[in-house]
Amino acid sequence: MQELTNEYLQEAIEDSRPFASSGSVNMTIPQFDETMKDYLGISIITTDGECFSAGDTNQYVPMQSTSKIIGLMLALQDFGKERVFQTVGMEPMGDFFNSISQLESYDTHKPFNPMINAGAIAVAALIKGQNAEKRFDRYLKFLRQITNNHELEMSEEVYQSEKANGARNRSLAYFMHSTGTLVSDVEDALDLYFRMNSVMMCGHDFARVGLFLAKGGLDLDTGEKLIPSHHLRTVKAIMMSSGMYNSSGHFAVEAGFPCKSGVSGSIIGSIPGRMGLGIVGPAIDEKGNSTAGGALIKKLSQDLELNMFGVE
Ligand code: GLN
Repeated sequence: MQELTNEYLQEAIEDSRPFASSGSVNMTIPQFDETMKDYLGISIITTDGECFSAGDTNQYVPMQSTSKIIGLMLALQDFGKERVFQTVGMEPMGDFFNSISQLESYDTHKPFNPMINAGAIAVAALIKGQNAEKRFDRYLKFLRQITNNHELEMSEEVYQSEKANGARNRSLAYFMHSTGTLVSDVEDALDLYFRMNSVMMCGHDFARVGLFLAKGGLDLDTGEKLIPSHHLRTVKAIMMSSGMYNSSGHFAVEAGFPCKSGVSGSIIGSIPGRMGLGIVGPAIDEKGNSTAGGALIKKLSQDLELNMFGVE
């Protein structure tokens, strides 16, 4: 098995970077431009606390859909598994992440799972708090504890852009309101969702989230248990089956560990008992996943024997 070193990661980055050419950068993100297409960075933190990194690791990008796993953890804390999965399903979906047609065809009108936009908006609507601002404060506090980065903040520019480009998400939310899936204030749920998407993080922060999931939900510095293990199992299982949208089956085969992507080209990976990894590679494919990041994950899984289903 390949030894994990910064030099090895640098080689893996250079092998994977060419895959960025088949992707494109999401230009609705205000800080993004074409020059970022070839950016690729990775941070890994092992459960023993060792840190490794290579490439463009200092690049801060918005969480986008990686926020969906934090939202799910908070909703599970607030209401428990049974209640959360009365609102949202736990099945993978073959359509794009912002699909609306599935809301009409699925017999109970439940979104398929919490990793697609409709499901994440329905989950955001569950998070406890007086209003979107207060609920976002809880979200940010939890995220800062998980990452031990107390500087994490929402980008006002990204938030404004999410709102300005949010027509599809608004239609998902109002449709769910019409069917009784989303019963709370629709605008409030959307506002919280937009804010959650807009928090800026770098590779190390994403890796800390992966490590938190891999290491039993502990505050990584105080050792305090922040969330019960049974909720973490649920989140990792949902990441495995749906975290990479309609490429989740592909990633289950090629990576073999739970991952969650965002359209900023971010990917959180969690290898239970071993490590968390955070990737930033802004060029994404039509399904919303980083192209170079996906290639990098596949390579790491093979070289470092990360596949949870067994290695040769
Ligand atoms: N902000 C994007 C949206 O809501 C996030 C989607 C994603 O990262 N896949 O559509």
